[in-house]
Amino acid sequence: MGQGFIQKAYGNIVMLEIPSFNKTGLVRHGFSTRIGGAGKKPYDTLNLACHVGDYPETVIHNRRAVCRALETEIEQMVTAQQVHGSVIRVVGQEHAGAGAFTYDTALPDTDGLVTNVPGLLLATFYADCVPLFIFDPVKQVIASVHAGWKGTLSGIGAEALRKMSQVFGSSPGDCLAGIAPSIGRCCYEVDEMVSGPFRRQYGWWEDVMTPCAGGKVRLDLPGANRNILVQAGIRPDNVEISQICTSCSQDILFSYRGSQGVTGRMGAFIMLRPQSATKKGE
Ligand SMILES: [Zn+2]
Repeated sequence: MGQGFIQKAYGNIVMLEIPSFNKTGLVRHGFSTRIGGAGKKPYDTLNLACHVGDYPETVIHNRRAVCRALETEIEQMVTAQQVHGSVIRVVGQEHAGAGAFTYDTALPDTDGLVTNVPGLLLATFYADCVPLFIFDPVKQVIASVHAGWKGTLSGIGAEALRKMSQVFGSSPGDCLAGIAPSIGRCCYEVDEMVSGPFRRQYGWWEDVMTPCAGGKVRLDLPGANRNILVQAGIRPDNVEISQICTSCSQDILFSYRGSQGVTGRMGAFIMLRPQSATKKGE
């Protein structure tokens, strides 16, 4: 593991970024915090999701602000409905704007987005689930993947890599990955209904579970996702994990569990830089 994620400020907006991604000069990306938006409680302040009860005009204002920080426009954003499935969709310029202004125009039955089109902004939204960033700097392909416990159980991170290989010829050994803040092992207690299938699915289940009272366990979802990505061929050194737990850090992040379900969402954003921007370099 390297240095994890770093904080970067763009005016009032604070984003978490992966240094190895920035080093390539080929992508713009970031995981937003709750800092720097216009939202009121319980969506204070940088809620980026349309479907959680916040005012639509506030969400769009916030999305525009994040797009400015990333040097792009909201019309370039592509979003997924995130149904806790395992479908990865390859998207192109024809999908630009999908779900940018309303949830119902987001891509249905989709939890992960892959593209090789520069300037297209892949966006997925979170409050506890695990955000996966994957970037192949050789073939110049990116993915943004939503992994809740169901997606993690089905190995959605590995599925994204398979899709990148199939469609674009990516080799997992070339890929970089980042696992942005999610609920940590410290705060994610689950019962047998969740832990049982993990034990049956993954030989390394003991790495990611801590037994606790009443037959429950505390599950390390980011750790499970790291194992899944490494098993799928990404080099361990190329996976950056944020050590921040959403539920423990509600001063800067939204947490679904930590707020009993009514709260905003952070966004995971990634875009291949348009040609003219890459020429200028960092
Ligand atoms: Zn925690």
